[in-house]
Amino acid sequence: MWSFALSILRAIPFLGSFFKEDYESLYSVEEKPLKTTRKVAIIGYGVGGSSVAYFLHELLGSSVEVHVFGDGKVGGRTGVVEFVGNKYEAGASIIHKKNRYMSGLSAKFGLKKAELPDGYLGIFDGVKFLYRSSAFSVISKLKLLWRYGFGLRKLQIYLNNLLTQFSSIYDLQSKGKSFADPITMVKAMGSHDMFYRLTQVSAEECFSKELGWGDRIVSEIVSGACRNNYCQDITDITAMVGSVSIAGAQDDSLYAIVGGNFQVPMKALEASTAEVHNAHVTKVSRVVTPDKTSPSFVLNYTEDEAVGQSEYWDAVIVACPLETSDIEFEGFDTGSWTSIKKQAFHRTVANFIHGKLNPKFFGTDVRNHTFPQTILTTKMKQPAVKFTTIGLNYPVDYTEQQKADHSKAVAAKDTANIYKIFSSEHLTEDQLNLIFSEYTEHTAVDWMAYPEYVVPENCGTFILNEGLFYINCIEHVSSAMEMSCIGAKNVSLLTKDYLHKLDQ
Ligand SMILES: Cc1cc2nc3c(=O)[nH]c(=O)nc-3n(C[C@H](O)[C@H](O)[C@H](O)COP(=O)(O)OP(=O)(O)OC[C@H]3O[C@@H](n4cnc5c(N)ncnc54)[C@H](O)[C@@H]3O)c2cc1C
Repeated sequence: MWSFALSILRAIPFLGSFFKEDYESLYSVEEKPLKTTRKVAIIGYGVGGSSVAYFLHELLGSSVEVHVFGDGKVGGRTGVVEFVGNKYEAGASIIHKKNRYMSGLSAKFGLKKAELPDGYLGIFDGVKFLYRSSAFSVISKLKLLWRYGFGLRKLQIYLNNLLTQFSSIYDLQSKGKSFADPITMVKAMGSHDMFYRLTQVSAEECFSKELGWGDRIVSEIVSGACRNNYCQDITDITAMVGSVSIAGAQDDSLYAIVGGNFQVPMKALEASTAEVHNAHVTKVSRVVTPDKTSPSFVLNYTEDEAVGQSEYWDAVIVACPLETSDIEFEGFDTGSWTSIKKQAFHRTVANFIHGKLNPKFFGTDVRNHTFPQTILTTKMKQPAVKFTTIGLNYPVDYTEQQKADHSKAVAAKDTANIYKIFSSEHLTEDQLNLIFSEYTEHTAVDWMAYPEYVVPENCGTFILNEGLFYINCIEHVSSAMEMSCIGAKNVSLLTKDYLHKLDQ
Protein backbone atom coordinates (compact mmCIF):
# COMPACT_ATOMS: atom_id res chain seq x y z
CA MET A 1 0.00 0.00 0.00
CA TRP A 2 1.02 3.55 -0.63
CA SER A 3 4.17 2.41 -2.29
CA PHE A 4 3.55 4.27 -5.44
CA ALA A 5 2.92 7.95 -5.87
CA LEU A 6 -0.17 8.48 -7.93
CA SER A 7 1.88 10.58 -10.25
CA ILE A 8 -1.01 11.06 -12.61
CA LEU A 9 -1.83 14.52 -11.32
CA ARG A 10 1.74 15.71 -11.66
CA ALA A 11 1.22 15.80 -15.37
CA ILE A 12 -1.54 18.37 -15.21
CA PRO A 13 -0.41 21.98 -15.50
CA PHE A 14 -2.97 23.62 -13.23
CA LEU A 15 -2.54 21.14 -10.43
CA GLY A 16 0.45 22.45 -8.56
CA SER A 17 1.55 21.74 -5.01
CA PHE A 18 -0.09 24.23 -2.68
CA PHE A 19 1.51 23.48 0.61
CA LYS A 20 4.86 23.45 2.21
CA GLU A 21 5.81 21.26 5.11
CA ASP A 22 5.21 22.74 8.49
CA TYR A 23 5.92 21.37 11.91
CA GLU A 24 4.81 24.36 13.96
CA SER A 25 2.80 23.92 17.12
CA LEU A 26 3.52 20.22 17.31
CA TYR A 27 5.86 20.51 20.24
CA SER A 28 4.21 23.38 22.03
CA VAL A 29 2.85 20.96 24.62
CA GLU A 30 3.57 22.06 28.14
CA GLU A 31 4.72 19.33 30.48
CA LYS A 32 2.45 19.14 33.53
CA PRO A 33 3.87 16.52 35.93
CA LEU A 34 1.67 14.39 38.16
CA LYS A 35 1.84 14.82 41.93
CA THR A 36 2.22 11.08 42.44
CA THR A 37 4.36 9.04 40.04
CA ARG A 38 2.11 6.70 38.04
CA LYS A 39 2.81 3.59 36.00
CA VAL A 40 1.50 2.97 32.51
CA ALA A 41 1.86 -0.18 30.39
CA ILE A 42 1.62 -0.03 26.60
CA ILE A 43 0.96 -3.17 24.56
CA GLY A 44 2.55 -2.95 21.13
CA TYR A 45 5.53 -1.06 19.73
CA GLY A 46 4.47 -0.19 16.23
CA VAL A 47 3.98 3.45 15.26
CA GLY A 48 1.00 3.72 17.66
CA GLY A 49 2.65 2.22 20.76
CA SER A 50 6.01 3.94 20.24
CA SER A 51 4.51 7.37 19.58
CA VAL A 52 2.11 7.16 22.54
CA ALA A 53 5.11 6.38 24.77
CA TYR A 54 6.85 9.42 23.32
CA PHE A 55 3.82 11.72 23.69
CA LEU A 56 3.27 10.60 27.30
CA HIS A 57 6.87 11.44 28.09
CA GLU A 58 6.34 14.89 26.56
CA LEU A 59 3.16 15.48 28.52
CA LEU A 60 4.12 14.06 31.92
CA GLY A 61 7.90 13.82 31.97
CA SER A 62 9.37 11.58 34.64
CA SER A 63 6.14 11.69 36.70
CA VAL A 64 4.99 8.75 34.60
CA GLU A 65 6.88 5.46 34.38
CA VAL A 66 6.11 3.85 31.04
CA HIS A 67 6.76 0.23 30.11
CA VAL A 68 6.21 -0.98 26.55
CA PHE A 69 5.49 -4.65 25.84
CA GLY A 70 5.88 -5.77 22.25
CA ASP A 71 6.46 -8.92 20.29
CA GLY A 72 8.18 -9.14 16.92
CA LYS A 73 10.20 -6.16 15.73
CA VAL A 74 9.85 -2.56 16.90
CA GLY A 75 7.86 -0.81 14.18
CA GLY A 76 5.16 -3.48 13.69
CA ARG A 77 3.67 -2.98 10.26
CA THR A 78 6.56 -0.76 9.20
CA GLY A 79 9.56 -2.88 8.33
CA VAL A 80 12.01 -3.79 5.62
CA VAL A 81 12.65 -7.02 3.77
CA GLU A 82 16.08 -8.12 2.51
CA PHE A 83 15.89 -9.04 -1.13
CA VAL A 84 18.66 -9.60 -3.71
CA GLY A 85 21.24 -7.95 -1.48
CA ASN A 86 19.23 -4.85 -0.57
CA LYS A 87 16.50 -3.73 1.82
CA TYR A 88 13.04 -2.67 0.65
CA GLU A 89 9.99 -1.32 2.47
CA ALA A 90 7.73 -4.33 3.00
CA GLY A 91 4.95 -2.67 5.01
CA ALA A 92 4.09 1.00 5.39
CA SER A 93 6.09 2.68 2.65
CA ILE A 94 4.89 6.19 2.12
CA ILE A 95 4.45 9.33 4.21
CA HIS A 96 2.52 12.40 3.05
CA LYS A 97 4.35 15.70 3.56
CA LYS A 98 1.22 17.06 5.26
CA ASN A 99 1.45 14.31 7.92
CA ARG A 100 2.63 16.58 10.69
CA TYR A 101 3.39 13.95 13.32
CA MET A 102 5.35 11.62 11.05
CA SER A 103 7.13 14.56 9.41
CA GLY A 104 7.67 16.33 12.72
CA LEU A 105 9.04 13.27 14.46
CA SER A 106 11.29 12.39 11.49
CA ALA A 107 12.69 15.93 11.49
CA LYS A 108 13.16 15.90 15.27
CA PHE A 109 15.10 12.64 15.10
CA GLY A 110 17.23 13.89 12.20
CA LEU A 111 15.95 11.28 9.74
CA LYS A 112 16.41 11.99 6.05
CA LYS A 113 13.67 12.01 3.44
CA ALA A 114 13.84 10.02 0.24
CA GLU A 115 11.89 11.23 -2.78
CA LEU A 116 9.88 8.56 -4.54
CA PRO A 117 10.65 7.17 -7.98
CA ASP A 118 8.70 9.09 -10.58
CA GLY A 119 8.27 6.46 -13.29
CA TYR A 120 5.80 5.87 -16.07
CA LEU A 121 2.26 5.15 -14.97
CA GLY A 122 -0.27 2.75 -16.41
CA ILE A 123 -3.87 2.00 -15.45
CA PHE A 124 -4.64 -1.62 -16.27
CA ASP A 125 -8.10 -3.19 -16.51
CA GLY A 126 -6.95 -6.84 -16.47
CA VAL A 127 -6.66 -7.02 -20.27
CA LYS A 128 -5.11 -3.76 -21.46
CA PHE A 129 -3.85 -0.37 -20.34
CA LEU A 130 -6.61 2.24 -20.24
CA TYR A 131 -4.09 5.01 -19.70
CA ARG A 132 -0.32 5.19 -20.11
CA SER A 133 1.85 8.21 -19.43
CA SER A 134 4.23 9.29 -22.17
CA ALA A 135 7.89 10.27 -22.30
CA PHE A 136 6.75 13.79 -23.22
CA SER A 137 4.86 15.55 -20.48
CA VAL A 138 2.80 17.58 -22.94
CA ILE A 139 1.52 14.35 -24.49
CA SER A 140 0.74 12.90 -21.05
CA LYS A 141 -1.26 16.04 -20.24
CA LEU A 142 -3.25 15.84 -23.44
CA LYS A 143 -3.90 12.12 -22.95
CA LEU A 144 -5.14 12.78 -19.43
CA LEU A 145 -7.42 15.60 -20.45
CA TRP A 146 -8.75 13.55 -23.36
CA ARG A 147 -9.56 10.56 -21.17
CA TYR A 148 -10.62 12.17 -17.89
CA GLY A 149 -11.58 15.72 -18.81
CA PHE A 150 -11.79 18.62 -16.39
CA GLY A 151 -13.26 16.45 -13.62
CA LEU A 152 -9.61 16.12 -12.56
CA ARG A 153 -9.74 19.75 -11.54
CA LYS A 154 -12.63 18.95 -9.18
CA LEU A 155 -10.58 16.15 -7.67
CA GLN A 156 -7.66 18.47 -7.02
CA ILE A 157 -9.81 21.19 -5.47
CA TYR A 158 -11.36 18.51 -3.26
CA LEU A 159 -7.92 17.29 -2.14
CA ASN A 160 -6.68 20.79 -1.36
CA ASN A 161 -9.76 21.45 0.76
CA LEU A 162 -9.58 18.02 2.41
CA LEU A 163 -5.96 18.44 3.47
CA THR A 164 -6.58 21.95 4.81
CA GLN A 165 -9.59 20.80 6.81
CA PHE A 166 -7.83 17.66 8.00
CA SER A 167 -5.11 19.78 9.61
CA SER A 168 -7.69 21.02 12.14
CA ILE A 169 -6.98 17.87 14.17
CA TYR A 170 -3.44 19.10 14.85
CA ASP A 171 -4.73 22.42 16.17
CA LEU A 172 -7.26 20.65 18.40
CA GLN A 173 -4.68 18.26 19.78
CA SER A 174 -2.08 20.97 20.36
CA LYS A 175 -4.69 22.69 22.57
CA GLY A 176 -5.04 19.47 24.57
CA LYS A 177 -8.44 18.45 23.16
CA SER A 178 -9.10 14.71 23.36
CA PHE A 179 -11.98 12.52 22.18
CA ALA A 180 -13.62 9.41 23.61
CA ASP A 181 -14.08 7.79 20.20
CA PRO A 182 -13.05 8.31 16.57
CA ILE A 183 -16.52 9.36 15.43
CA THR A 184 -16.61 12.24 17.95
CA MET A 185 -13.11 13.11 16.76
CA VAL A 186 -14.00 13.25 13.05
CA LYS A 187 -17.13 15.26 13.86
CA ALA A 188 -14.91 17.91 15.47
CA MET A 189 -12.59 18.09 12.46
CA GLY A 190 -13.11 20.50 9.57
CA SER A 191 -16.46 22.06 8.87
CA HIS A 192 -19.99 20.82 8.20
CA ASP A 193 -19.38 17.29 9.51
CA MET A 194 -17.32 16.70 6.36
CA PHE A 195 -15.14 13.96 7.84
CA TYR A 196 -17.99 12.25 9.65
CA ARG A 197 -19.93 12.11 6.39
CA LEU A 198 -16.91 10.57 4.67
CA THR A 199 -16.94 7.68 7.18
CA GLN A 200 -20.60 6.95 6.47
CA VAL A 201 -20.71 6.68 2.68
CA SER A 202 -18.86 4.52 0.18
CA ALA A 203 -16.05 5.99 -1.92
CA GLU A 204 -17.96 5.22 -5.09
CA GLU A 205 -21.19 6.84 -3.91
CA CYS A 206 -19.41 9.95 -2.65
CA PHE A 207 -17.04 10.64 -5.55
CA SER A 208 -19.28 9.50 -8.35
CA LYS A 209 -22.77 10.50 -7.30
CA GLU A 210 -22.30 13.23 -4.70
CA LEU A 211 -19.22 15.01 -6.07
CA GLY A 212 -19.79 14.14 -9.74
CA TRP A 213 -16.18 13.56 -10.77
CA GLY A 214 -17.17 11.38 -13.69
CA ASP A 215 -17.24 7.61 -14.03
CA ARG A 216 -13.81 7.23 -15.57
CA ILE A 217 -12.03 9.23 -12.87
CA VAL A 218 -13.77 7.22 -10.17
CA SER A 219 -13.53 3.74 -11.70
CA GLU A 220 -9.97 4.18 -12.96
CA ILE A 221 -8.03 6.79 -10.96
CA VAL A 222 -9.78 6.61 -7.58
CA SER A 223 -10.26 2.87 -7.80
CA GLY A 224 -6.60 2.44 -8.78
CA ALA A 225 -5.49 4.48 -5.77
CA CYS A 226 -7.75 2.57 -3.35
CA ARG A 227 -6.65 -0.81 -4.69
CA ASN A 228 -3.07 0.42 -4.39
CA ASN A 229 -3.42 1.72 -0.83
CA TYR A 230 -5.88 -0.64 0.80
CA CYS A 231 -6.23 -3.43 -1.79
CA GLN A 232 -10.01 -3.00 -1.54
CA ASP A 233 -12.60 -1.71 -3.99
CA ILE A 234 -14.36 1.65 -4.03
CA THR A 235 -17.72 0.02 -3.39
CA ASP A 236 -16.48 -1.61 -0.16
CA ILE A 237 -14.56 1.19 1.52
CA THR A 238 -15.69 4.52 2.93
CA ALA A 239 -15.07 7.82 1.18
CA MET A 240 -12.70 8.66 4.08
CA VAL A 241 -10.50 5.66 3.25
CA GLY A 242 -10.82 6.60 -0.44
CA SER A 243 -9.79 10.17 0.32
CA VAL A 244 -6.67 9.02 2.18
CA SER A 245 -5.84 6.83 -0.83
CA ILE A 246 -6.03 9.66 -3.34
CA ALA A 247 -4.30 12.21 -1.09
CA GLY A 248 -1.03 10.91 -2.53
CA ALA A 249 -2.04 12.27 -5.92
CA GLN A 250 -0.82 15.69 -4.81
CA ASP A 251 2.20 16.92 -6.68
CA ASP A 252 5.43 15.74 -4.97
CA SER A 253 3.52 15.10 -1.77
CA LEU A 254 4.96 11.72 -0.78
CA TYR A 255 8.25 10.56 0.65
CA ALA A 256 9.84 7.77 2.66
CA ILE A 257 12.61 7.73 5.26
CA VAL A 258 16.10 6.93 4.01
CA GLY A 259 17.06 3.61 5.57
CA GLY A 260 13.45 2.62 6.35
CA ASN A 261 10.30 4.11 7.88
CA PHE A 262 10.61 1.81 10.92
CA GLN A 263 13.21 4.26 12.26
CA VAL A 264 10.46 6.73 13.23
CA PRO A 265 8.84 4.38 15.80
CA MET A 266 12.26 3.07 16.81
CA LYS A 267 13.59 6.56 17.58
CA ALA A 268 10.32 7.62 19.24
CA LEU A 269 10.55 4.62 21.55
CA GLU A 270 14.18 5.43 22.42
CA ALA A 271 13.35 9.10 23.05
CA SER A 272 10.38 8.17 25.26
CA THR A 273 12.81 6.67 27.84
CA ALA A 274 10.22 3.90 28.37
CA GLU A 275 11.37 0.49 29.55
CA VAL A 276 10.91 -1.96 26.69
CA HIS A 277 9.99 -5.62 27.19
CA ASN A 278 10.17 -8.00 24.24
CA ALA A 279 7.18 -9.91 25.47
CA HIS A 280 3.86 -11.20 24.19
CA VAL A 281 0.98 -10.07 26.39
CA THR A 282 -1.61 -12.79 26.89
CA LYS A 283 -3.94 -11.24 29.45
CA VAL A 284 -4.93 -7.89 30.93
CA SER A 285 -6.73 -8.16 34.27
CA ARG A 286 -8.46 -5.47 36.21
CA VAL A 287 -7.82 -5.65 39.93
CA VAL A 288 -8.44 -3.41 42.91
CA THR A 289 -5.37 -3.24 45.10
CA PRO A 290 -5.98 -3.02 48.87
CA ASP A 291 -4.45 0.46 49.18
CA LYS A 292 -6.21 2.05 46.23
CA THR A 293 -9.73 3.03 45.38
CA SER A 294 -9.07 3.34 41.64
CA PRO A 295 -8.73 0.21 39.53
CA SER A 296 -5.32 -1.13 38.69
CA PHE A 297 -4.23 -3.58 36.05
CA VAL A 298 -2.02 -6.61 35.85
CA LEU A 299 -0.55 -8.05 32.65
CA ASN A 300 0.28 -11.67 31.97
CA TYR A 301 2.90 -12.16 29.32
CA THR A 302 5.45 -14.55 27.87
CA GLU A 303 9.03 -13.40 27.50
CA ASP A 304 11.72 -15.70 26.07
CA GLU A 305 9.32 -18.62 26.54
CA ALA A 306 9.03 -17.82 30.27
CA VAL A 307 5.62 -16.88 31.61
CA GLY A 308 5.45 -13.70 33.65
CA GLN A 309 3.01 -11.55 35.52
CA SER A 310 3.72 -7.88 35.83
CA GLU A 311 3.35 -5.49 38.72
CA TYR A 312 0.36 -3.16 39.03
CA TRP A 313 -0.35 -0.50 36.42
CA ASP A 314 -2.42 2.62 36.88
CA ALA A 315 -3.37 2.62 33.21
CA VAL A 316 -2.94 0.30 30.22
CA ILE A 317 -2.84 1.32 26.56
CA VAL A 318 -3.61 -1.28 23.91
CA ALA A 319 -1.64 -0.30 20.79
CA CYS A 320 -2.34 -3.27 18.53
CA PRO A 321 -5.51 -4.22 16.63
CA LEU A 322 -7.96 -6.17 18.80
CA GLU A 323 -9.18 -7.86 15.62
CA THR A 324 -5.92 -9.76 15.18
CA SER A 325 -4.74 -10.01 18.78
CA ASP A 326 -5.24 -12.93 21.16
CA ILE A 327 -5.14 -10.87 24.36
CA GLU A 328 -7.66 -12.00 26.99
CA PHE A 329 -9.35 -9.43 29.20
CA GLU A 330 -10.37 -10.38 32.74
CA GLY A 331 -12.50 -8.35 35.11
CA PHE A 332 -14.02 -6.17 32.39
CA ASP A 333 -17.39 -6.16 30.73
CA THR A 334 -16.11 -6.75 27.19
CA GLY A 335 -19.60 -7.10 25.70
CA SER A 336 -19.40 -3.79 23.85
CA TRP A 337 -16.02 -4.72 22.34
CA THR A 338 -17.30 -7.91 20.76
CA SER A 339 -18.17 -6.07 17.55
CA ILE A 340 -14.55 -4.82 17.27
CA LYS A 341 -13.05 -8.27 17.74
CA LYS A 342 -15.36 -9.79 15.17
CA GLN A 343 -14.39 -7.43 12.37
CA ALA A 344 -12.15 -8.85 9.70
CA PHE A 345 -8.66 -7.68 8.85
CA HIS A 346 -7.57 -7.62 5.24
CA ARG A 347 -4.72 -9.89 4.23
CA THR A 348 -2.20 -8.31 1.87
CA VAL A 349 0.78 -10.18 0.49
CA ALA A 350 3.67 -7.95 -0.57
CA ASN A 351 5.46 -9.93 -3.33
CA PHE A 352 8.95 -8.83 -4.33
CA ILE A 353 10.12 -9.99 -7.74
CA HIS A 354 13.36 -9.40 -9.60
CA GLY A 355 12.41 -9.62 -13.25
CA LYS A 356 11.13 -8.06 -16.47
CA LEU A 357 7.43 -7.37 -16.91
CA ASN A 358 5.80 -9.29 -19.74
CA PRO A 359 4.20 -6.81 -22.19
CA LYS A 360 1.85 -9.51 -23.56
CA PHE A 361 0.22 -9.92 -20.16
CA PHE A 362 -0.63 -6.22 -20.32
CA GLY A 363 -2.09 -6.46 -23.84
CA THR A 364 0.83 -4.99 -25.75
CA ASP A 365 3.78 -6.29 -27.77
CA VAL A 366 6.48 -3.92 -26.75
CA ARG A 367 8.29 -3.27 -23.49
CA ASN A 368 10.19 -0.09 -24.35
CA HIS A 369 11.64 2.43 -21.91
CA THR A 370 8.22 4.05 -21.39
CA PHE A 371 6.60 0.80 -20.29
CA PRO A 372 4.70 1.57 -17.05
CA GLN A 373 6.63 0.95 -13.85
CA THR A 374 3.70 1.88 -11.66
CA ILE A 375 0.63 -0.11 -12.60
CA LEU A 376 -2.66 0.73 -10.93
CA THR A 377 -5.63 -1.50 -11.59
CA THR A 378 -9.37 -1.12 -11.96
CA LYS A 379 -11.70 -3.75 -10.54
CA MET A 380 -10.95 -6.67 -12.87
CA LYS A 381 -13.78 -8.92 -14.05
CA GLN A 382 -12.00 -12.22 -14.62
CA PRO A 383 -8.34 -11.55 -14.03
CA ALA A 384 -5.78 -14.10 -15.17
CA VAL A 385 -3.92 -13.23 -11.97
CA LYS A 386 -5.53 -11.51 -8.98
CA PHE A 387 -3.43 -8.58 -7.84
CA THR A 388 -4.20 -4.97 -7.03
CA THR A 389 -1.06 -3.05 -7.91
CA ILE A 390 2.50 -3.34 -9.25
CA GLY A 391 5.31 -0.88 -8.66
CA LEU A 392 8.98 -0.45 -9.26
CA ASN A 393 10.88 -0.44 -5.96
CA TYR A 394 14.21 1.04 -4.96
CA PRO A 395 16.27 0.02 -1.93
CA VAL A 396 15.51 2.09 1.17
CA ASP A 397 19.05 3.48 1.30
CA TYR A 398 19.45 4.46 -2.38
CA THR A 399 20.47 8.07 -2.99
CA GLU A 400 18.62 10.17 -5.59
CA GLN A 401 21.66 9.81 -7.85
CA GLN A 402 21.64 6.03 -7.51
CA LYS A 403 17.93 5.97 -8.42
CA ALA A 404 18.49 8.16 -11.48
CA ASP A 405 21.51 6.08 -12.61
CA HIS A 406 19.57 2.89 -12.03
CA SER A 407 16.58 3.93 -14.13
CA LYS A 408 18.86 5.14 -16.94
CA ALA A 409 20.70 1.80 -16.93
CA VAL A 410 17.44 -0.17 -16.98
CA ALA A 411 16.04 1.95 -19.84
CA ALA A 412 19.25 1.60 -21.88
CA LYS A 413 19.76 -2.12 -21.46
CA ASP A 414 16.28 -3.40 -20.63
CA THR A 415 17.63 -5.08 -17.51
CA ALA A 416 15.51 -6.60 -14.76
CA ASN A 417 13.99 -4.48 -12.00
CA ILE A 418 12.68 -5.08 -8.51
CA TYR A 419 8.88 -4.90 -8.48
CA LYS A 420 6.46 -5.08 -5.57
CA ILE A 421 3.07 -6.61 -6.27
CA PHE A 422 0.20 -6.56 -3.78
CA SER A 423 -2.16 -9.51 -3.83
CA SER A 424 -4.53 -11.06 -1.32
CA GLU A 425 -2.90 -14.49 -1.68
CA HIS A 426 0.59 -15.77 -2.43
CA LEU A 427 1.34 -15.62 -6.15
CA THR A 428 2.32 -18.96 -7.66
CA GLU A 429 5.19 -19.60 -10.03
CA ASP A 430 2.72 -20.03 -12.90
CA GLN A 431 1.10 -16.69 -12.14
CA LEU A 432 4.47 -14.95 -11.96
CA ASN A 433 5.42 -16.50 -15.29
CA LEU A 434 2.39 -14.78 -16.81
CA ILE A 435 3.18 -11.34 -15.39
CA PHE A 436 6.95 -11.54 -16.02
CA SER A 437 8.68 -12.54 -19.24
CA GLU A 438 11.56 -13.58 -17.02
CA TYR A 439 12.29 -13.42 -13.32
CA THR A 440 15.05 -14.73 -11.12
CA GLU A 441 14.05 -14.15 -7.51
CA HIS A 442 10.80 -13.91 -5.59
CA THR A 443 9.98 -13.43 -1.94
CA ALA A 444 6.79 -12.46 -0.14
CA VAL A 445 5.79 -10.80 3.13
CA ASP A 446 2.35 -11.79 4.36
CA TRP A 447 0.48 -9.16 6.37
CA MET A 448 -2.76 -8.88 8.25
CA ALA A 449 -2.66 -5.40 6.88
CA TYR A 450 -5.60 -3.13 7.74
CA PRO A 451 -9.31 -3.47 8.46
CA GLU A 452 -11.58 -5.06 5.91
CA TYR A 453 -13.58 -1.89 5.61
CA VAL A 454 -17.36 -1.67 5.86
CA VAL A 455 -19.73 1.16 4.99
CA PRO A 456 -20.77 2.92 7.18
CA GLU A 457 -17.94 2.64 9.72
CA ASN A 458 -18.73 2.73 13.42
CA CYS A 459 -15.04 2.87 14.49
CA GLY A 460 -15.40 1.75 18.14
CA THR A 461 -13.86 3.62 21.07
CA PHE A 462 -10.56 4.93 22.47
CA ILE A 463 -11.73 4.16 26.04
CA LEU A 464 -12.29 0.45 26.56
CA ASN A 465 -12.75 0.90 30.30
CA GLU A 466 -11.75 3.26 33.07
CA GLY A 467 -7.94 3.48 32.74
CA LEU A 468 -7.84 1.10 29.75
CA PHE A 469 -7.28 2.86 26.43
CA TYR A 470 -7.18 1.67 22.82
CA ILE A 471 -5.42 3.32 19.86
CA ASN A 472 -6.21 1.09 16.90
CA CYS A 473 -9.91 1.93 16.64
CA ILE A 474 -8.62 4.87 14.58
CA GLU A 475 -7.74 2.41 11.80
CA HIS A 476 -11.46 2.26 11.02
CA VAL A 477 -11.33 5.93 10.08
CA SER A 478 -8.36 4.90 7.94
CA SER A 479 -5.22 2.93 8.58
CA ALA A 480 -1.95 4.80 8.11
CA MET A 481 1.12 5.64 10.16
CA GLU A 482 -0.09 9.21 10.64
CA MET A 483 -3.49 7.99 11.79
CA SER A 484 -1.72 5.81 14.39
CA CYS A 485 0.12 8.93 15.60
CA ILE A 486 -3.14 10.91 15.76
CA GLY A 487 -4.76 8.06 17.71
CA ALA A 488 -1.68 7.86 19.95
CA LYS A 489 -1.74 11.59 20.61
CA ASN A 490 -5.43 11.38 21.51
CA VAL A 491 -4.82 8.45 23.86
CA SER A 492 -1.85 10.21 25.47
CA LEU A 493 -4.14 13.17 26.24
CA LEU A 494 -6.87 10.87 27.60
CA THR A 495 -4.32 9.03 29.76
CA LYS A 496 -2.83 12.29 31.05
CA ASP A 497 -6.30 13.55 32.07
CA TYR A 498 -7.12 10.20 33.68
CA LEU A 499 -3.89 10.15 35.70
CA HIS A 500 -4.35 13.77 36.80
CA LYS A 501 -7.81 12.83 38.06
CA LEU A 502 -6.26 10.04 40.16
CA ASP A 503 -4.10 12.74 41.75
CA GLN A 504 -7.13 14.59 43.09
C1 LIG B 1 1.54 -3.85 3.33
C2 LIG B 1 1.20 -2.60 4.07
C3 LIG B 1 1.44 -1.36 3.48
C4 LIG B 1 1.13 -0.20 4.17
N1 LIG B 1 1.45 1.00 3.59
C5 LIG B 1 1.32 2.13 4.30
C6 LIG B 1 1.87 3.33 3.80
O1 LIG B 1 2.48 3.37 2.73
N2 LIG B 1 1.71 4.45 4.53
C7 LIG B 1 1.08 4.44 5.75
O2 LIG B 1 0.99 5.50 6.40
N3 LIG B 1 0.57 3.29 6.25
C8 LIG B 1 0.68 2.14 5.56
N4 LIG B 1 0.24 0.95 6.08
C9 LIG B 1 -0.54 0.98 7.32
C10 LIG B 1 0.39 1.15 8.52
O3 LIG B 1 1.41 0.18 8.48
C11 LIG B 1 -0.39 0.95 9.81
O4 LIG B 1 -1.54 1.77 9.82
C12 LIG B 1 0.45 1.36 11.02
O5 LIG B 1 1.78 0.95 10.88
C13 LIG B 1 -0.18 0.71 12.24
O6 LIG B 1 0.68 0.92 13.36
P1 LIG B 1 0.24 0.39 14.79
O7 LIG B 1 1.33 0.72 15.71
O8 LIG B 1 -1.10 0.94 15.09
O9 LIG B 1 0.06 -1.17 14.61
P2 LIG B 1 1.20 -2.27 14.36
O10 LIG B 1 2.26 -1.71 13.48
O11 LIG B 1 0.49 -3.48 13.90
O12 LIG B 1 1.84 -2.49 15.77
C14 LIG B 1 1.25 -3.32 16.73
C15 LIG B 1 2.36 -3.88 17.58
O13 LIG B 1 1.78 -4.64 18.62
C16 LIG B 1 2.49 -5.85 18.76
N5 LIG B 1 1.58 -6.80 19.39
C17 LIG B 1 0.44 -7.33 18.89
N6 LIG B 1 -0.12 -8.16 19.79
C18 LIG B 1 0.69 -8.14 20.87
C19 LIG B 1 0.65 -8.80 22.13
N7 LIG B 1 -0.33 -9.61 22.46
N8 LIG B 1 1.66 -8.57 23.01
C20 LIG B 1 2.68 -7.74 22.72
N9 LIG B 1 2.75 -7.08 21.54
C21 LIG B 1 1.77 -7.29 20.63
C22 LIG B 1 2.91 -6.18 17.34
O14 LIG B 1 3.98 -7.08 17.32
C23 LIG B 1 3.30 -4.80 16.85
O15 LIG B 1 4.60 -4.46 17.23
C24 LIG B 1 0.53 -0.24 5.44
C25 LIG B 1 0.29 -1.48 6.04
C26 LIG B 1 0.65 -2.64 5.37
C27 LIG B 1 0.45 -3.96 6.04
